[in-house]
Amino acid sequence: MTTDTIAAIATAAGRGAIGLLRLSGPQARTIAEKICGSLPPPRQAGLRAFRDADGNVLDRGLVLTFIAPNSYSGEDLVELQAHGGPVLLDLLLQAACYAGARVARPGEFSERAFVNGRLDLAQAEAVADLIDASSREAVTAAQRSLEGEFSRQVRALADELMQIRAWIEGALDFSDEDIDWLADAQLHQRLATWRQALALLQKQTLQGRRLRDGLIVAIAGQPNVGKSSLLNRLAGVDAAIVSEQAGTTRDLLREHLVIDGLPITVIDTAGLRDTQDPIEREGIRRAWNALEKAEAILFVVDDRDGDATADQQLLARLDSQIPRLLIRNKCDLSGAAPQRHETSGAVELRVSAATGAGFDLLRNELRTLAGWNSSAADKQSSFTARTRHVVALDACGQHARLAHQGLERKQAAETIAEELRLAQQQLGEITGAVSTDDLLGTIFSSFCIGK
Ligand code: GDP
Repeated sequence: MTTDTIAAIATAAGRGAIGLLRLSGPQARTIAEKICGSLPPPRQAGLRAFRDADGNVLDRGLVLTFIAPNSYSGEDLVELQAHGGPVLLDLLLQAACYAGARVARPGEFSERAFVNGRLDLAQAEAVADLIDASSREAVTAAQRSLEGEFSRQVRALADELMQIRAWIEGALDFSDEDIDWLADAQLHQRLATWRQALALLQKQTLQGRRLRDGLIVAIAGQPNVGKSSLLNRLAGVDAAIVSEQAGTTRDLLREHLVIDGLPITVIDTAGLRDTQDPIEREGIRRAWNALEKAEAILFVVDDRDGDATADQQLLARLDSQIPRLLIRNKCDLSGAAPQRHETSGAVELRVSAATGAGFDLLRNELRTLAGWNSSAADKQSSFTARTRHVVALDACGQHARLAHQGLERKQAAETIAEELRLAQQQLGEITGAVSTDDLLGTIFSSFCIGK
């Protein structure tokens, strides 16, 4: 039970037409009354003068009151809509603190909403994801998570798992009887169907995570092969300096783009070569660093050079775990047609950053690399998800697989029941049915203040 009342400026830092001060907690209304005099009836806007502790009028604006439990946080909550001046809002916040509130931590309103059962954990995370959404698709998906679409599916799986566990635990209770409860084909079938449903949710969750986190792609290659031109062509703007002079790109350059709803961060790196120039060497060191962290690498070569030894040597140094595309650029000069070519899993694309030829193939390939499916059906069922959710569902799947194996191998009911209990626990961690203070701290501290 929270006893303190928190206050925060809920609008973004900087100047704006309107700025919002939010109060939540048992004293929210008393504190607001000290600032505004009287309060309007709940959920009705009222125009009031906002005063500091000395009674000076700071501003005049609208006040909205929500009474527990019917508010965002599930507590008494008051919103003061003032003009959006940073100094003015700070003074209002000070007035609230003088009247008994304390400054809220990041995400504390949402944390209280979770503690008071207004939102489950996945929904609370979706609030932050909605604020951070970087594409229209990400907005729709975060909204669906916030509405509880993802949580509902997780809970449905948890409910069915509960039934299966009850069956198996029933076998424990009646283990002296002659009937072999665990041999029932219906039980096996039910667990198999459940695992299929889990696998489907895992797939959707992976897609949801992509929508939230996007794909990080690094462009690498020797100087002058057209890396910066490739970035510019993909981004549709002149982000990077293009020059005939080798060694122009030294710092990492990042561009955020959206391809068919999929957010992608493309990083242009310094051309990889031996050099004595200390600044270029630092650029190349950063380039290798970025290449280690990327989720995909576009390795660019000049199509006229064929398979240059220098390129082969660089390719051999790349982490083989990171998916890569070999981009044969400048096909307008080599005279070859744009094309996709695949040999034993390695994909090569022939393109021209100068003319844009072959870029449809490249965009397609990036979508495939990200495991991105943007079909209409998927859009309708999409929701945002986080790595934490993907990991929990994977762990859940592992426990369920072990339980299923145990069932088939006629292992002791205790062992199977234990695996299923662990599987259920993983599902509970997603919605917050099972949570620790550490987990909550990590999640909510990444929120913005006032949310
Ligand atoms: P980077 O050093 O690898 O980043 O290469 P840049 O993008 O700076 O390009 C080096 C030079 O090649 C510039 O003069 C570009 O205009 C030129 N260039 C890049 N891509 C192409 C292409 O596809 N066709 C042609 N004809 N020129 C290109």
